[in-house]
Amino acid sequence: MLTPDRIREAPKALLHDHLDGGLRPSTIVDLAGEYGYDGLPTRDPDDLSAWIRRGADRKSLELYLETFAHTVGVMQERDAIVRVAAECAEDLAADGVVYAEVRYAPELSTERGLTLDEVVDANLEGFKLGAARAAESGRAIVMTMLVTAMRQAARSVEVAECAVRWRDAGVVGFDVAGPEKGYPPTRYLDAFEYIRRENFHITIHAGESFGLPSIWEALQFAGAERLGHGVRIVDDITTRSDGSVELGRLAAFVRDRRIPLEMCPTSNVHTGAAASVREHPIDLLRRLRYRVTVNTDNRLMSGVTLSSEFEALDEAFGIGLGEMEWLTINALKSAFAPFDERLRLINEVVKPGYAHLRAEQSRVAG
Ligand SMILES: [Zn+2]
Repeated sequence: MLTPDRIREAPKALLHDHLDGGLRPSTIVDLAGEYGYDGLPTRDPDDLSAWIRRGADRKSLELYLETFAHTVGVMQERDAIVRVAAECAEDLAADGVVYAEVRYAPELSTERGLTLDEVVDANLEGFKLGAARAAESGRAIVMTMLVTAMRQAARSVEVAECAVRWRDAGVVGFDVAGPEKGYPPTRYLDAFEYIRRENFHITIHAGESFGLPSIWEALQFAGAERLGHGVRIVDDITTRSDGSVELGRLAAFVRDRRIPLEMCPTSNVHTGAAASVREHPIDLLRRLRYRVTVNTDNRLMSGVTLSSEFEALDEAFGIGLGEMEWLTINALKSAFAPFDERLRLINEVVKPGYAHLRAEQSRVAG
């Protein structure tokens, strides 16, 4: 079994993490006071954190999403967004994350007059500050941003254009998030077509709370390069009584084309997409050698870190260092950062990092 310290020390890459799902509880309380947000159920950071986790663990994506009112509520001013983004970078770096794509929907922070561009600018500024502070303390992290459009809003084209405007300043792709049912990817074709024409990158939340049609549309109509969650792809996989497995056409396509699955085990348990981590389809999918990646989704709502997700997987399936390295390299192969940057991280950070940990492990065992 891997120890928590070893997991934290191991270099990790994160492709699916929401900025508004990872605030420090104490920061929410501070910002609420500073900017006059009076919607919080409590001003005690520990109580607030427990309240949010309880609210998130109700086995429904729609109820899960309700808890974001309070994080987004305190992210309506430039300085607040800069602080949240900087702390995000510091927290991820402290957890041993060396590359992160953190997503945010700028339209959520426009209640007090900020424009989409101002929100993205503040977000990137925070990442820069936080990464610099992390580097000073000996923890290098590459922070990039995915710009998300919310399914319920009708601004996806505007948001997509904003994402492309910031592509040379740290934005690496475009995403669509929010309630899946009733909002299929084909509703946003204009935005996806625009992104594709600009040779930019697309990931879509699909196959989380809703099944195969959503995954199919995301891939074959919208042109998604990766699937946010994608866990329902198991609905197209049949395990026979003799243990053999049969893939349907879509499940085969996803595996053959090496479509990355941004899997978030604990979050799926909270939204009801899986009964427990032990029963999560990630086990079958990794054994079938899908391009599986491990992610946090919402660190605050789900009470997780990337390290604790790996810990849960090791506990459930005994993945060990070898599989952890495979999952990390999967993530870097699937990342939207330029190829040379990903290669540098794989060859100069991840592989030596795991080699070092393996040597240490065998020294301890010997
Ligand atoms: Zn998500």
